[in-house]
Amino acid sequence: MDHDAGITVDYRSPEEVFAVLGNETRLAILRAFVGAEGPLTFSRLRETVGMRDSGQFNYHLQKLSGAFIRESEAEDGYEPTLAGMRVVGALVAGNYTADATIDPIDVDDACPTCEERPLRVTFEDDQAHVRCPHCESFHNQYGFPPGTIDQYSHEELPQVFDRWLWTLFQRITAGFCVNCAGRLDGALVTDGDEPRIEWRCDRCGDRANASVTVPVLYHPATQGFLYDHGVDPTTTPSWRIATKRDRDVEETDDGVTVRLTVDGETVTGRVAHDGSVTDVDRSDR
Ligand SMILES: [Zn+2]
Ligand SMILES: [Zn+2]
Repeated sequence: MDHDAGITVDYRSPEEVFAVLGNETRLAILRAFVGAEGPLTFSRLRETVGMRDSGQFNYHLQKLSGAFIRESEAEDGYEPTLAGMRVVGALVAGNYTADATIDPIDVDDACPTCEERPLRVTFEDDQAHVRCPHCESFHNQYGFPPGTIDQYSHEELPQVFDRWLWTLFQRITAGFCVNCAGRLDGALVTDGDEPRIEWRCDRCGDRANASVTVPVLYHPATQGFLYDHGVDPTTTPSWRIATKRDRDVEETDDGVTVRLTVDGETVTGRVAHDGSVTDVDRSDR
């Protein structure tokens, strides 16, 4: 148990909790909550799972109780806990069960670094890749849930992968680990061609790294600046924003200053050594 002023967190044994899931009936019970609009009663659950013996069914239900399901306080019936919802989500997302492949897609857009086209989009080992085959210095790579791929058409995937990247960066720049939701620490790294930020989760060991322009891009002042200049960051592919031609990065004693120019106007963001954005100015305001 971790105990800090006003905070209590109890941790169950992961061996015991995961062992609970290694059973067909219990997974079927959790799966019964897919698409359910509220708590499910004992008899409804038993009917959905298709088990006649009510004593036997109750045994499995009790095994899930606590960690994965609980009795609803508002209505008669059972509902998944947050962990139960995560298991349900992982089952439908195919994180543990799906294996997806796609034919490579060429996107007729210029590389943000060398300006050659096209860009190439692939999916390998559960990772989406958006890269420039000409210069190889532009290469975005990140995990994407394989079970989500066949919810879209082949030609939609470049945009879909890019929207997913947007959600990942929202979480990362807000300080949460994409893998375990733990606390993320950022650090500015200035040893390469262009400064970048490395984020690390000490809890699960997951890492992420991105150009120093990323935290500035995700700052609300920058998003507003882009929007006001006709670049909607929610629909414009990320590789068209902050291209090498449009950005200027300068190292300072306090960190790095990033300038993005659109339509002759500039937004300037300062990034501290921990990767946080300390301030953003617009030349047009
Ligand atoms: Zn390139
Ligand atoms: Zn983590």
